[in-house]
Amino acid sequence: MPSGSRAERRGLLGRGARLTAQLTGPAQAGLAALRERQRESGSAPTRGVAFTGTVWVGGEAEPRPGTVVVDGAGRIAAISYDDRPALPRELLVLGGEHHWVVPGIVDAHVHLGFDPRVADVTDPSRVSASGSVSGLDSGLVGVRDLGAPLRWAGHWQTGHRLPPPGSPAVAISGPILTAPGGYPSRSWGAGGYAEFVYSPTRARSVVQHLAAEGVDLIKVALERGDDDTPTLGATVLRAIVDAAHAAGLAVVAHALTGDLVSRALDAGVDELAHTPTERLDEQLIAKIAASGVSVTSTLQTFFSSGSGRVAAANAADLVAAGVILRYGTDLGNAGTRPGVDPRELDRLADTGLGRLGALRAATERSAAAAGMRSRTGMMRRGEPAAIVLLPFSPLAEPGVWRTPAAVYADGRLTVGQTGSSRRSHRESTNR
Ligand SMILES: [Zn+2]
Repeated sequence: MPSGSRAERRGLLGRGARLTAQLTGPAQAGLAALRERQRESGSAPTRGVAFTGTVWVGGEAEPRPGTVVVDGAGRIAAISYDDRPALPRELLVLGGEHHWVVPGIVDAHVHLGFDPRVADVTDPSRVSASGSVSGLDSGLVGVRDLGAPLRWAGHWQTGHRLPPPGSPAVAISGPILTAPGGYPSRSWGAGGYAEFVYSPTRARSVVQHLAAEGVDLIKVALERGDDDTPTLGATVLRAIVDAAHAAGLAVVAHALTGDLVSRALDAGVDELAHTPTERLDEQLIAKIAASGVSVTSTLQTFFSSGSGRVAAANAADLVAAGVILRYGTDLGNAGTRPGVDPRELDRLADTGLGRLGALRAATERSAAAAGMRSRTGMMRRGEPAAIVLLPFSPLAEPGVWRTPAAVYADGRLTVGQTGSSRRSHRESTNR
């Protein structure tokens, strides 16, 4: 429960009963934010809610002062750049002149089986029992799990259903298809994360089984590692891709070296799950660009494990060649932690995308990653809202993603911690 002076409370979120019917400009908008006590997480305002501040609707748009109105059904009713928007009386209005209103972030590469807040991986029954995925409170509105035993992943997958309160939407690949004894079956994926494919016939049956189970996409691994682990050959790989495409599923490939990236491209895969960590030559960069294959970044975890510089150089070349880079952290690996990772956003910005381009990679681009069905990474009138209210500019400081003021998704409002809201207020007024 917030306490303290009125000034302290200005930055907090509250029930906005009897707010003024009109905002009278950005300077006044703060008043709207904030009456009475903080709302409880996950509540659904029946009369709708308005978010005011600097509005970035996503995509190629430029950020500008405005107000986004969400109706009681969770859809965006209006996006106004008028400095005196007409708002219904008693509408909950959140934000203020220092706030930013942006689409929520989608992480296109996670491993929820290694998220300590999701699962005890030694006890699958615990996963079944909870099935709940963290991250929404940091502005993460969608994640794509690229590798987990199907008996777990099936519990996390949201498909066209609403996620549980406080959880992001989850797309899943299920197990990773690999050669018999191949990566990751001898390392982190020993506990059911890998599915062996030894022939084209087997490729078809495995893919058809996964499709029948309802996975959102197919993941393949091509990785020799230090001990020359077996990898999928060209014929079997092609059979996997063909079977997946016949079932309407895209294929994302783990391939970190030049020759294995090339093998994946030749087989017709749709995406690379990582920025490669072996330095790619100009020809291969051009080949990736010509293929239309997109790349999920996972740069920060490579920096945490020592291969970041080369990956970052590849990422910069890929961006310069026009390849679409999507935000992904590889949650569960070295140096990762649940929620939005501001460091990954800055790694993306450094590829030449800049901070706004990095945000686009983490919203529109990652929401369009194969298998992510229920998010657009944009704010458009008439569409379901998946919106984050940040207490100050994410372009000035991506670390603001650690402390969003509010997140609205699937018709539910989740507010930030009292402490973080207070801090955001201080930072806002010091500017
Ligand atoms: Zn991964």
